[in-house]
Amino acid sequence: MTTGRSDDATNVVSALGSGTGPTPDNWDLAADVVVIGAGATGLPAAIAARDAGASVIVVEANYDIGGHAILSGGNVPLGGGTSAQRKYGIKDSPDLVFADLTDWSIVQPNGWPDYRYNDRAVMRGFADHCAATYEFLVANGVTFKDVPPDNVGAHSTGNSAPRENHAVWTDGTGLASPSGRAGAGLVRPLEASARAKGVKFLLNHKMTSLIRTASSSTNPGRVVGITAQYTPRTLPGSTTPLQSYRSEGNIDSTKPSVAIRAAKAVILATGGSTSNVNFRRMFDPRLTEVYQTAGEPYTFQDASGELAAMAIGASLWGLGNQILENGDGIRTQRALGARYNYFAWDVNSPILPLVRAAGLEVKDWQNLILVNQLGQRFYDETKGDYPNGNLYNEFNPYRPGDYRNNASIDYNPTHYNFFNAAVAMNAASGPPDYAAGPIWAIFDAEAVTREQWQVAPPYVDPDGYFFSANTLAELAAAIKNPYQAKPMDGATLQATVARYNTFVDTGTDVDFGKYRPQYRIQTPPFYAAWATPLVHDTRAGLRINARCQVMDMQGQVIPGLYCGGESAGGFNQHGLGRCTAQGYIAGKYAAAERPEA
Ligand SMILES: Cc1cc2nc3c(=O)[nH]c(=O)nc-3n(C[C@H](O)[C@H](O)[C@H](O)COP(=O)(O)OP(=O)(O)OC[C@H]3O[C@@H](n4cnc5c(N)ncnc54)[C@H](O)[C@@H]3O)c2cc1C
Repeated sequence: MTTGRSDDATNVVSALGSGTGPTPDNWDLAADVVVIGAGATGLPAAIAARDAGASVIVVEANYDIGGHAILSGGNVPLGGGTSAQRKYGIKDSPDLVFADLTDWSIVQPNGWPDYRYNDRAVMRGFADHCAATYEFLVANGVTFKDVPPDNVGAHSTGNSAPRENHAVWTDGTGLASPSGRAGAGLVRPLEASARAKGVKFLLNHKMTSLIRTASSSTNPGRVVGITAQYTPRTLPGSTTPLQSYRSEGNIDSTKPSVAIRAAKAVILATGGSTSNVNFRRMFDPRLTEVYQTAGEPYTFQDASGELAAMAIGASLWGLGNQILENGDGIRTQRALGARYNYFAWDVNSPILPLVRAAGLEVKDWQNLILVNQLGQRFYDETKGDYPNGNLYNEFNPYRPGDYRNNASIDYNPTHYNFFNAAVAMNAASGPPDYAAGPIWAIFDAEAVTREQWQVAPPYVDPDGYFFSANTLAELAAAIKNPYQAKPMDGATLQATVARYNTFVDTGTDVDFGKYRPQYRIQTPPFYAAWATPLVHDTRAGLRINARCQVMDMQGQVIPGLYCGGESAGGFNQHGLGRCTAQGYIAGKYAAAERPEA
């Protein structure tokens, strides 16, 4: 039995399997703590467990570490009295974080309540570890900008103190940061620290099941390991598996299926369910396959953690938070003409052949119109924003827990209903799934000049996501895409553009109220670029307690199983703060497990 620190986490441990459940006769690998997923939750979990003396294997389905976190903007919401807050004279405390993030009376500008459905136990756990997580990240090599914590990039971070910190990333090469974005400034230092401390990484392996011993009236049954399948990734036309950026500490295995023993615990850090179309449609049936996920195709958050845990009795939790009218859950695209278009990708990214095109970043939404698959406009193109949720000092005066807070919000459902208009689209939907279909940006040669776009590969993907033609009728006929249910009618598109041009002439958009439409669409060539919104966040998942232990349908802890980040439920906040903190919590408590006692 593995106890205490083991310097070689890859020892093959045999003759274990003493449980009464379906434990394998032989385990391929073993460690005290097995972490599933190497993103914002998994890396802190692995380091925290290792710091506490546990041997750790991180199992990651992708060819490299990072998950959504490495693609992220690296804006990390952590407060509660961090050294950065103290340095700049900002007053904050765990109690203030807890009170802010459980205040029922706060609503977003579209009326969605930020914190009403947060689980109090989960929030207490977060509040108590929030500042410690910030110091832990710094101690493990993360550099944050030396500026006062602020609201930049923040979402639902509470009214009482600024809590957003910004990771610094200077090595902007596509290899270290596939997206070229600052999330690598959080992830790569944590990875380096984990590897230096002896955490082992089993990349290219997807966890497919959790192994739990059988339960009895006196023994609830314990999670003692996992199975995983070898899932190497290759680029189109290549048979060579993609390689990770760093390799020290990687476990070299190409066995199709492995069983891994966890002497103390398994931590699920699998990143949520946004890529699983059937799973996400449980919360919003409109989110058919056409809507991509912000982190694809680098990683796919396919609910495999949730499904494996549910298969051994785990409960889901906090499902109300997953309704995607909740702030930024579904977002407008920022880069046109490419399927994976939440941001413009680094053209040096090692996965550009998978991404297929970097995308055209939009500077001014006046330069185009957006049409549905029928070729009709449906909203004011400049109003694609999403509410960020409540931020520091947004309610002033702020009276915690007082219903009168709502009287002072900038209630503006019109502004934030862009997505509802985009995904509803009943006029254009049909059997079998009544998908609303793609949204296309329509613009002309003058817009290309104004935006300084390069309308050729690798910036756009002419294979289904970007089209050009000398007339609007030819453009409509050229649009061919798997999600375009029927061909766009050229006469409809011509009529739409002609009508819009009259709005430009008169200065008034009588259909959708776009403020002073500025540019006629008149000069060939004309363009149609993929501009369909995307699903961004998972806000509901497995039921956990304040220690991030997973709980079953009877409200009992499942021994040996932890979860954090987007795969965990009960916490409605975007991103890296809750994920890093819950990873830290899960790692700390998982390492302290004493199953043999
Ligand atoms: C483009 C983008 C920008 C963002 N910007 C910000 C920001 O600036 N600030 C902020 O706070 N948040 C931001 N976010 C959100 C933030 O990145 C995520 O909330 C966070 O990374 C989620 O952490 P996680 O650990 O739950 O999942 P991830 O970081 O996605 O990690 C999950 C990992 O688990 C792996 N995995 C999944 N299933 C399995 C399996 N069965 N077996 C093995 N491995 C598996 C995945 O491959 C992945 O590597 C951004 C997200 C995106 C996509």
